[in-house]
Amino acid sequence: MNEFAGSQYVIEIVYLIASVLFILSLKWMSSPTTARHGVWAGEIGMVLAIAGTLLHHGIVDYKWILISLVLGTIIGVPLGRVQMTAVPQRTALSHAFGALCVTLVGTAEFYLRSPSVAPFMMAVLSMEVILGGLTFTGSLMAAGKLQEILPQRPLTYKGQNLVNFLLMGAAVVLAVWLVLHPEAKQLFPLMVLIALIFGVLLVIPIGGADMPTVISLLNSYAGLSAAAMGFVLNSKLLIIAGALDGSSGLILSIIMSKAMNRSFTNVLFGAFGQVQTVAAGGQEAKSVRSATAEEAAAILSAANKVVVVPGYGMAVAQAQHKVRELYDSLTKRGVDVRFAIHPVAGRMPGHMNVLLAEADIPYDRLMDMEEINGDFPQTDVALVIGANDVTNPAARNDASSPIYGMPILDVDKARTVMVIKRGMSPGFAGIDNPLYYLDRTLMLFGDAKSFVNNIVRELGGGH
Ligand code: NAP
Repeated sequence: MNEFAGSQYVIEIVYLIASVLFILSLKWMSSPTTARHGVWAGEIGMVLAIAGTLLHHGIVDYKWILISLVLGTIIGVPLGRVQMTAVPQRTALSHAFGALCVTLVGTAEFYLRSPSVAPFMMAVLSMEVILGGLTFTGSLMAAGKLQEILPQRPLTYKGQNLVNFLLMGAAVVLAVWLVLHPEAKQLFPLMVLIALIFGVLLVIPIGGADMPTVISLLNSYAGLSAAAMGFVLNSKLLIIAGALDGSSGLILSIIMSKAMNRSFTNVLFGAFGQVQTVAAGGQEAKSVRSATAEEAAAILSAANKVVVVPGYGMAVAQAQHKVRELYDSLTKRGVDVRFAIHPVAGRMPGHMNVLLAEADIPYDRLMDMEEINGDFPQTDVALVIGANDVTNPAARNDASSPIYGMPILDVDKARTVMVIKRGMSPGFAGIDNPLYYLDRTLMLFGDAKSFVNNIVRELGGGH
């Protein structure tokens, strides 16, 4: 075996190990107990993939690669340190970078090969730059909306879906034309430009609230465009990694849409979030019962079974460590405390699991919605901490509600419901929650962290 074939062999083996690690990473990340292994496997896989690529014979000069590595690290380190609540927009930015890279590589490859590009290669190249281009600008829009640099509300105008449809159609027509006439070089930038514009127009009519689902879908597009790039560059590793990314993003978007009882078309074209303010504004005054931390502590300590339902408010208030103190306090008194996790509680998939794991709440105390729902009628207290929509009984019994049909945690079936939130503001869906007006519901008004702290203090622990 000569030196070239030898190093090629090493590269292939390194890529194979990296591919296996990527697959294991996804598998392990599906459970909290193995998630850390999953992160490690993904990181080692990525280091191997980069190392293998750097061994390539085609590389004549490492200078530019080194500069890019330093630049990437300078951008990447602060991105890795963002607050947990900013992870969705951080993820969107990563997709934008990846998609920009795919689009640039695709463009370079086209001009290197043109005018004699084989039809299959041209089709794959077109798919690469169309998906890459729309993912780049779409992800930037999504990140901007989530970071509130751009307006969160859906920006809509008449005939919007038709315009988007025509634009996408134009990009596809250009792609087909280029497959038949790859020498028509001047059409290529036009196709990329249309994809870039399409990305902006696709995302602006979607409300900030739907962004996590959109980001997960854009993740899927980024994966597919990377897989297409794998065909162009003849890299099996890229094809595998892109396909994993593409399919996992799609599966996640489906899970999120299902948990919100929304169809993809509704997320993408429904301009959800527009009607919300109207619905929230039209409420007539109804009375609620509120209680103090002292009363809440007394009720909790008299209970046998307590189910804590965390939501977005717990995340914003960063109350998870106080919740852990509450868990310790109550458990010490012999109260059975469990946590009910709704699949879309918070603002990103697994949001509550991550926060509760950070506070070292034992995994076996975290219950999925399906596991816990049957237990609410035998639960003495359902303690809702900063959750709203995921507990809204209107989803079960009000056919006119925008969230009708969304699976919810049946907290209203518990003997007593206590809800910690700052006021009567609606949650993400922007709608009122009839749970708050039930006789068995007590509102505990305040910031999640300080209210839980006060309860812990009343129970005789904490600071
Ligand atoms: P939610 O319905 O958005 O409600 C959160 C509640 O927390 C608000 O009503 C707010 O009321 C309260 N809150 C805010 N800051 C607080 C603080 N510092 N202390 C105490 N309370 C605070 O949250 P959720 O029940 O977790 O539901 C999640 C929603 O996000 C669902 O509608 C879901 O469809 C959507 N969503 C989730 C994902 C995901 O992947 N998880 C993705 C997309 C969409 P006050 O202002 O009165 O305090």
